[in-house]
Amino acid sequence: MTSTKTTGPGADRAATPPGLRVGVDIGGSKIAVLVVDGDGTVCARRNVPTASAEPDEAIAQIAAVIREAVAEAGATMADVEAVGLGVPGRVDSATGDVTFAVNLGWQHLPLGRRLATALGVTCIVENDVRAAAVGLHRAAPFGPTDDLVYLGIGTGISAGVVLDGRLHRGVRGLAGEIGHIVLDPDGAPCACGLHGCFETIAAGAGIARAAREAVASAVSSGEPTSLSSVADPTAADVFAAAAAGDLAAGRIVDRAAAAIARMVHELVLAYDVELVVIGGGISRAGHPLLERVQAGLDRIGAPSPFAAELLAETDVRLVGSDHDVGTRGAIALLGPDTKGVVAREAVG
Ligand SMILES: [Zn+2]
Repeated sequence: MTSTKTTGPGADRAATPPGLRVGVDIGGSKIAVLVVDGDGTVCARRNVPTASAEPDEAIAQIAAVIREAVAEAGATMADVEAVGLGVPGRVDSATGDVTFAVNLGWQHLPLGRRLATALGVTCIVENDVRAAAVGLHRAAPFGPTDDLVYLGIGTGISAGVVLDGRLHRGVRGLAGEIGHIVLDPDGAPCACGLHGCFETIAAGAGIARAAREAVASAVSSGEPTSLSSVADPTAADVFAAAAAGDLAAGRIVDRAAAAIARMVHELVLAYDVELVVIGGGISRAGHPLLERVQAGLDRIGAPSPFAAELLAETDVRLVGSDHDVGTRGAIALLGPDTKGVVAREAVG
């Protein structure tokens, strides 16, 4: 119903004491694996470059890194209770199949079933951002709340929404795909086919595109930018240049931060949550980014006592770099103490 449970040969182990749990975060650039014991204590972690676009290779690669991490914990797969996986794509809640994982090059991959067969353990698959929202609800690093949004901003943008303590997936499993909300109909083309989507302004590729445009216009306008000295500037380069006082970079970051602030406001209006956590690659920009987002929220609230009060009552945070939001989220899918976020009893 709200997550996917795929049964492998060794899945029927309900009578055994809690064993190791493995969380896997499959990202656009790396696979991160975290192994914890029954108390949640970290036993091992592994990071390897991202999965192959070829399905058989990808399954073999993911299974291998999981086995390596479990071995590093001094254990074997027989000691593993279950594996949770967060994947940047659309996850079919009935089958564990992953579709439209564009950044990984997967059109259709029965990830849950294939991995459960390969590893001999239960595998639960969820969209990575939604898994992260579940993990934040469970770990409560900013204090307990049953209503929160995790806004994942990296290569793309989407939101994981927990309402009344439960992950909100929607009928298609697409609730929170706000990266494709159009903020500027005359803006840059988006991979989805529309123009001026939130992603084109605030995600990594959009910020890099704005940097290239700033470099090009620096030549014609005569306003220098330090980005000109960087070959193929990335979003990280833009944030670094802005922090160093580069005006062109600062404008790009301000535009992204204003768009993030606008989406935070709209998420709060839509879902009435009390906590919005910003994570993903953009969170490495750290406190200066959060300050700019907060300035954007203050501008939204300035003419509106209603908006000002709403935003004042909303806690907006950046996920800490020490919080394994992806892998912890994947582990949080495994319950049984998920406080109802994932209805484990409903997925068997
Ligand atoms: Zn789009």
